[in-house]
Amino acid sequence: MLSADFGNLQSMSKMINDSRAEWLHFDVMDGVFVPNISFGFPVLESVKRDCTKLLDVHLMIVEPEKYVQRFAQAGAEMLTFHLEATKKPLEVIKIIRAENIKVGITINPDVPVKHLEPYISKVDMVLLMTVFAGYGGQKFIPESYTRIDEVKTLIAKHNPQCLIEVDGGVNFENAPLLFSHGVNVLVAGSTVFNAANPQHAISRLLDC
Ligand code: ZN
Repeated sequence: MLSADFGNLQSMSKMINDSRAEWLHFDVMDGVFVPNISFGFPVLESVKRDCTKLLDVHLMIVEPEKYVQRFAQAGAEMLTFHLEATKKPLEVIKIIRAENIKVGITINPDVPVKHLEPYISKVDMVLLMTVFAGYGGQKFIPESYTRIDEVKTLIAKHNPQCLIEVDGGVNFENAPLLFSHGVNVLVAGSTVFNAANPQHAISRLLDC
């Protein structure tokens, strides 16, 4: 929803509710981990009141362990944190689990995929950034396909149930390839919200 019209979040929720989208992806930026600030708890609470889809919250913030409870209380159903943003990834996973919500882990494009290996058996989802975290509307990094294959290998070895999500530059051209590489969840911002008919764009992506 980083690409949505923030002045009209109720109509955004209605559009999403009536669409084939399964989740709503919510990007939280703190101006420290990434050089940008997006939105926080009150916006999430407000969206939670109207949106019937799963709220997938992507934390681009330092020391995520400090804020897990508040995001869970505000309505997050999947909470994904950056491995680079904490010194205590295992503790973050434990704190998220204690809230009885799903847990995801993510890395930026310059972090080797093998750094995720110790955590794959403990999470529900790996989010692979296909642009650098921090801004909407960036171009997909083509080297991401190799990284997706590496993640798939680790998932097959340690936790076959684990989902793989990609975030950044997803469009109608790369969506079919992403699905064929085994990606389960596509995050699409500008491809959906800049479309003349966002619901149609969502359907078109799902049918890729
Ligand atoms: Zn995101």
